[in-house]
Amino acid sequence: MSGAAVEYEPVIGLEIHVQLRTRTKMFCGCELSFGDEPNVHTCPRCLGLPGTLPVVNAQAVHYGIMIGLALGCEIAPRSQFHRKNYFYPDLPKGYQISQYDVPICGPGKLGEVRIHRVHLEEDAAKLVHVGESGRIHGADRSVVDFNRGGTPLAEIVTEPDLHSADEAREWLNLLRTTLRAIGVSDVNMEEGSLRCDANVSVRPLGSDQLGTKTELKNMNSFRFLAQGVKAEIERQTALLRAGEQVQQETLHFDPASGRLTPLRSKEQAHDYRYFPEPDLVPLVVTEAMLERARAELPELPADRAARLERDLGLSGERARELAFRPELGDFYEAALAAGGPQLDAVALANWIPPLVERIGSDADPAGSRVSPSALAALVALVSSRAVSQTAARDVLTLMVQSGDQPATIVEREGLGAIGGDDSGLAQVVAAAIAADPDAAEKVRDGNMKAVGPLVGYVMRETKGRADGGEITRLIREQLGL
Ligand SMILES: [Zn+2]
Repeated sequence: MSGAAVEYEPVIGLEIHVQLRTRTKMFCGCELSFGDEPNVHTCPRCLGLPGTLPVVNAQAVHYGIMIGLALGCEIAPRSQFHRKNYFYPDLPKGYQISQYDVPICGPGKLGEVRIHRVHLEEDAAKLVHVGESGRIHGADRSVVDFNRGGTPLAEIVTEPDLHSADEAREWLNLLRTTLRAIGVSDVNMEEGSLRCDANVSVRPLGSDQLGTKTELKNMNSFRFLAQGVKAEIERQTALLRAGEQVQQETLHFDPASGRLTPLRSKEQAHDYRYFPEPDLVPLVVTEAMLERARAELPELPADRAARLERDLGLSGERARELAFRPELGDFYEAALAAGGPQLDAVALANWIPPLVERIGSDADPAGSRVSPSALAALVALVSSRAVSQTAARDVLTLMVQSGDQPATIVEREGLGAIGGDDSGLAQVVAAAIAADPDAAEKVRDGNMKAVGPLVGYVMRETKGRADGGEITRLIREQLGL
């Protein structure tokens, strides 16, 4: 080995469990609920009583197909449910009905990440650990809430195509946005309707072999996912640099301490003894079912981003910003429609971030005091040079506060652009040239970078109300260029 430091590359794959937004559970008629009294949505089937038989929820299958289509997956014409056997108090049957060797959706791709598979299964019940405050008979206990048991889940498994914690977070956001757009789930990480595990390994940069991976369980927010993956990448890289080996294990990330702790090995020593569920016939997806799912798919966020970039000339980054937060995309497109064909689509898009900055980064502009048509009117005032860029930012702040139309605010606050022949702008420009003859000389010699101090002088004197382009034009005119 040479003495040069080896660079390491992280390799990350994600496994995402998505609770489907059906009315009833996966294999019985109990209603789904969140936050209801414990154990009020149960029946002999989801409690696993002997003699009961499962019936597949058709809506869950429909949602599974929609997810597969949205992720570009091959839909299996015939798939199979299996029993995944393990004993745990949250699993009354002693097995989970899941899919094993033939899932409903095969390989696909979302963004730059390949999808390995998507399968349907049922959720386990919820174990609640009762501590000090809720002691039962004087002792700490764990109790089970069976309301969640049997909730339909889609498990989405990616290929290991991600290479940083930030990439993982961004891609998960694309997935969540996509699932929300197609309406199959609430995709709320805090409430557990979207849960993410990450498989993390590192390898020497340029290697095509995968290193030993660890599995990070159930990170329940985007921030914790990024923090946990980052911490694990750092831990593994440090081990390899020290000449040690990574152990294959399952880890729990504690966001409070930033520490990763192994889950006890007996909790992960699984032999699930999969076998085909004898109480269910194979799942056959007909052409009619595929057609119905295709018909219900809306424009997907990735497609919307591509359309905004292609048809309206937005930058890729701006297009994704708008498309991946549909409320921003909707507001933008409403403003674009209100502004008419002469409105500059790119200029309008550039005003969405300043608006978001002023209403709060998570807020929906539709709930703000600024209407789409008012934002379009502001952009039109800037485009026609009636208001300078700088002054328009102040106008926007006042629009957010008052809900008034931009023209009203410009009039009331005297924020209209200084320009035109009798505005006095020419005199201010002349004063700027007189105040900085060195800069003026450089500009005259063709060094346009030197124009900065002159423009800055005029901006200060006019309190930002003069139009930058108009100032430059007047400087050139007065210098005889
Ligand atoms: Zn039930």
